Amino acid sequence: MDTLNTRSSLPFGPRSVAIAFSLLCVFLLLPTAGADARLFKKTAVVMGTEFEVSLHASDKAKADAAFDAALEEMVRIEGEMSEWMEGTPVYAINKSAGRAPVRVSAELYKVISAAQTVSALSGGAFDISWASMRGLWSFAEGAERLPSAKEVAERLPLVDYREVLLDDAKKSVFVRKVGAMIGLGAIAKGYGVDMAMKRIVKLGIKDALVRAGGDMRVQGTDNGRPWEVGIRHPREKQRHIAKLGLTNISISTSGDYERFFIKHGVLYHHIMDPKTGYPGVRSQSVTVLAPDTMTSDALSTALFVMGPAEGLALVGRLKGIEAIIIDASGKVHTSAGITINNP
Ligand code: ADP
Ligand code: MG
Repeated sequence: MDTLNTRSSLPFGPRSVAIAFSLLCVFLLLPTAGADARLFKKTAVVMGTEFEVSLHASDKAKADAAFDAALEEMVRIEGEMSEWMEGTPVYAINKSAGRAPVRVSAELYKVISAAQTVSALSGGAFDISWASMRGLWSFAEGAERLPSAKEVAERLPLVDYREVLLDDAKKSVFVRKVGAMIGLGAIAKGYGVDMAMKRIVKLGIKDALVRAGGDMRVQGTDNGRPWEVGIRHPREKQRHIAKLGLTNISISTSGDYERFFIKHGVLYHHIMDPKTGYPGVRSQSVTVLAPDTMTSDALSTALFVMGPAEGLALVGRLKGIEAIIIDASGKVHTSAGITINNP
């Protein structure tokens, strides 16, 4: 993943991404949108999450065409990358676990390679083979499941991204351990957002916001102003810890409030620490800004598990990445390029 090169190998400075922060920020140089461009917004459900497109277009037909193209792209990528849907290439990889490598498309290979890069960078905090825990945990409403310590201990040895072998020449993926599985739930949505935005831009639209759950990309402006993106407080739904004015950038948030249940007074949520087999305990929410959404998606999950100390140390080594980490006690930590007033 080219955006994840470390700083030393890069030709330009680390803070080259235009990021606008907090309520104080004013963008004076952005052009005002033409009077003929109206704001259109549509939502749908895809990849098990809410999908939103907001854009400025001259008429409804243009806006509808862009929305349809974006949604079509998301559905196509779900058909390629879902581990639940029978018949997808990822499903095939999992079926062949312990037996044989599976050749995949260049696109899927790229996403799995990017995932492996984030795993290596995060020391395994991000790990697509978390999916080997399948069936043990359930966060579905009414069907919540907390596994026994024995179940977790028995399954945990199957979680190890180093046992997912990629062959660059053959473009094949081999899940080496019998019974192990991969799942792209923490990276495919972000990739989908990038691809959906590409389709929209191809149709001549310059000002758009695309969001799948907590993964978002914004291009151009919202009527001449940066797109305003609120970062919600992890414990108070109606409160924002910051509002960012953003353009031409991706932003992802991973939070422990998205899918969770509470048992015996303990909050169990869906972002797993691959080292323990239990939900990560170092963060309540993590927001990452990055040049593309595949990267912001994967890194928000990785940093959530890593927590503020390790997480911000990693961000400091990456180019074009900023992060806001709310730790387990509710304290807000930010990377060097971000200032929040009165968090
Ligand atoms: P959301 O799905 O709410 O956008 P994330 O992007 O953080 O949140 O992804 C969480 C999902 O990723 C989980 O539901 C699960 O499918 C998968 N996952 C959980 N823990 C990890 C992990 N440590 N590494 C990679 N994927 C994970
Ligand atoms: Mg993610």
